[in-house]
Amino acid sequence: MSRIALFPGSFDPFTKGHEDIVRRGLHLFDEIIVGIGRNASKQRYFPLEQMIGWIEQTFQDAPQVRVVAYDDLTANVARQLGARFLLRGLRNTTDFEYENGISQVNRFVYEEVETVFLITSPHLAPISSSIIRDLHRYGQPVDSFLPYKLKE
Ligand code: ADP
Repeated sequence: MSRIALFPGSFDPFTKGHEDIVRRGLHLFDEIIVGIGRNASKQRYFPLEQMIGWIEQTFQDAPQVRVVAYDDLTANVARQLGARFLLRGLRNTTDFEYENGISQVNRFVYEEVETVFLITSPHLAPISSSIIRDLHRYGQPVDSFLPYKLKE
């Protein structure tokens, strides 16, 4: 049976930290589905369709990676996609506190799902989507934090 993992997140934007988690995850899973959670009550900073295109471009070399957008409970989406694993990254204890709760709730919704955590690579630990949004908003170049170019 192939090992399929869903890597859920907002990815607003998808960063080199996220790319690292996916590429390392490819040693563990046969297929990784990057799942962009849509949140009706939260306006995105980087448009969804553009982000899907940039993530697809990032993994042009890796046919085992695909991208979906969803508007549902993550655990339900994993079940629908046949993904028995959720992939998440951990940077620090704040991430841990949050992830600890949601991984338990995800197993409440879909008992067979297991969350697999990869610890951040140290050189990527300071990268967060929210910091990148702040830098970009005030005109600071952010391309060095992203695995694609914002403008072609
Ligand atoms: P969410 O909105 O669900 O927190 P994000 O898009 O911010 O989603 O992040 C998705 C996942 O990637 C989370 O598990 C987060 O901890 C992880 N992540 C984010 N940045 C990094 C990084 N620099 N290194 C490792 N993991 C990261």
